[in-house]
Amino acid sequence: MSQRPFILAAEGVNKSFAGFQAIRDLNFYMDPGELRTVIGPNGAGKTTFLDLITGRAKPDTGTIRFGADHELTGLNEYEIYRLGIGRKFQTPTVYADHTVFENLVMSLEGSRGVWASLFAKIHNTQRDRIQEILETIHLGDKAQWKAGALAHGQKQWLEIGMLLAQNAQLLLVDEPAAGMTDEETHRTGELLLSLAGKHSIIVIEHDMVFIRQIAAGRRVTVLHQGSVLCEGPVDQVQNNEKVIEVYLGRKHAHP
Ligand code: ADP
Ligand code: MG
Repeated sequence: MSQRPFILAAEGVNKSFAGFQAIRDLNFYMDPGELRTVIGPNGAGKTTFLDLITGRAKPDTGTIRFGADHELTGLNEYEIYRLGIGRKFQTPTVYADHTVFENLVMSLEGSRGVWASLFAKIHNTQRDRIQEILETIHLGDKAQWKAGALAHGQKQWLEIGMLLAQNAQLLLVDEPAAGMTDEETHRTGELLLSLAGKHSIIVIEHDMVFIRQIAAGRRVTVLHQGSVLCEGPVDQVQNNEKVIEVYLGRKHAHP
């Protein structure tokens, strides 16, 4: 039997914190270029799953394969980052006192560390690449702005741009719509959709309008108590009885 060329394949993954099992026999497969939305109630293990992919936490058991050649569970955070896995946290982590342009320069693949890269000569190809990223993230006219002066949504786009500069193949994006206006949320959806295909993307979200925008015609995964509860097209998932029960569970438990 030929194996499908998954970009990410997590199998039999378990992770406990002081006796609490946050991830339970998790199996998760993703195709190259896929944009996958992961939903699930608070505490379902969504962020922990990203921690396990990026090496921030180590699974107790199981394997996480990246592409055909890499088993991630034995690598440290930096090695995983260098393989092309980029993560965007909920709170933007841009260098506020540096310009948008400089933030992107500092993230360029192969850059020699944050400070050295600021003083190094930038090649024309790098300049072109940054210009292309600036257009992609809708900050073409803000290249010389201090990152700290950007609106919340723009900071989040810059951070996505930094993942692109890093040349990440797999983008992990945790609750991007949090704190955004409806307009910013919609533009973020458009940005992620424009990156799908060229990149593989996992988006963790709660905002149902946003999820319907980015997940239309795509697979959605529902995590619950550290396992995949349900996976499928967004309409199917939204109408799945187990999913409805999990989201309304408290109501049934405490009438
Ligand atoms: P989600 O992102 O789906 O809301 P998390 O992955 O953040 O859920 O958390 C899943 C569970 O694991 C929660 O009960 C959380 O308290 C626990 N947990 C996550 N990380 C740690 C940690 N570093 N130490 C202890 N408990 C943790
Ligand atoms: Mg979380």
